Amino acid sequence: MTERVTIIGSGPAGWTAAIYAARANLEPIVYEGAFNEDNRQKGTLPLGQLALTTEVENFPGFPAGDMTAYLDSSIDDKKRRYMAPHEKQGVSGPELMELMRQQATNFGARVVTDDIAEIDLSNRPFRVKSLGGEEFESHAVIIATGARANYLGLESEDRFKNMGVSACAVCDGALPRFRDQPLVVVGGGDSAMEEATFLAKYASTVYIVHRRDEFRASKIMADRALANERIEVKWNSVIDEVLGNDENGVTGVRIRNVNDDSQTEELSAAGYFAAIGHTPNTDFLSGQLQTNDKGYLTWTDPPRSNTSVEGVFAAGDVADDRYKQAITAAGSGCAAALDAERWLADQGLE
Ligand code: NAP
Repeated sequence: MTERVTIIGSGPAGWTAAIYAARANLEPIVYEGAFNEDNRQKGTLPLGQLALTTEVENFPGFPAGDMTAYLDSSIDDKKRRYMAPHEKQGVSGPELMELMRQQATNFGARVVTDDIAEIDLSNRPFRVKSLGGEEFESHAVIIATGARANYLGLESEDRFKNMGVSACAVCDGALPRFRDQPLVVVGGGDSAMEEATFLAKYASTVYIVHRRDEFRASKIMADRALANERIEVKWNSVIDEVLGNDENGVTGVRIRNVNDDSQTEELSAAGYFAAIGHTPNTDFLSGQLQTNDKGYLTWTDPPRSNTSVEGVFAAGDVADDRYKQAITAAGSGCAAALDAERWLADQGLE
């Protein structure tokens, strides 16, 4: 059997595409990703980057409030049982993603918990192969595999993820644990400047730790950060270790001067933000789709979600190196489903 539309990815873009495609009776199949060690290490487990965050305060429709009764009544018991309870008011990233997943399955989206390992886009219908060896054909494909934040790769970074280590100041910066506390941002590009400037609204001091003596960032963004009296730059410095403990999470970092190995310094900090770039999750495409110079998929006819191959649509962070927000990803997932639906209708495949 040939699928009408296959959705690859399970962040807000993938689930929104699934909700729209299912409601349009396209019976979408969603490959949500595999639960395996490789994906855990890379930060690409099912439900995407939101599943790695805590509270979500900027997704419209979820003001602070006790979500318990709503979550209990809306999410399948089998899933709900494994969701960690929390005392925080409002929705968490993992909860928001389970809500979206549930909404998609309520409308009939079929979900497979596996990665797509290979896809052949040279002929239609496209040939698709999962990591587990399943092979099938699909008329349309929506790629919503997201992008993963780059981390330095320190063991201590991994240990304190969700306990003060983050790669998204806009998502996490306003959380109570970071307020009026010293924070650390690592990186010297526009993201680092943006994150530091954003965090300086809440933090007592923001240290930017950068490995060189000049920023890569655009002059305007670098100047804005340098002019902020709450931002202090540690030039020519790298992170040796993120410091902390199980009770408090991050308590600081140890930095090392690149010009003098013996020169180390410990900075007290309640948070550590990696801002050293993102990598879009496109390996399985083997270069078959056009990308920009940073490797993100190109929308060839914006604002449509079309890619360089007819019948293949892209949604969310895999094609967006600018906004990278849950709500913009959800919006582009909606667009991709509508575009796929119209394309299938034009082909007489609805
Ligand atoms: P980026 O420009 O690639 O900068 C990455 C930074 O991280 C660089 O300063 C780099 O240091 C540092 N870095 C990389 N690997 C490192 C490592 N292993 N250890 C220590 N430092 C490391 O990435 P980005 O800042 O995320 O920006 C990505 C793109 O988005 C850029 O084109 C940027 O202009 C754009 N952007 C725009 C805005 C905006 O306009 N509002 C905001 C954010 C991002 P080196 O400099 O030494 O290489």
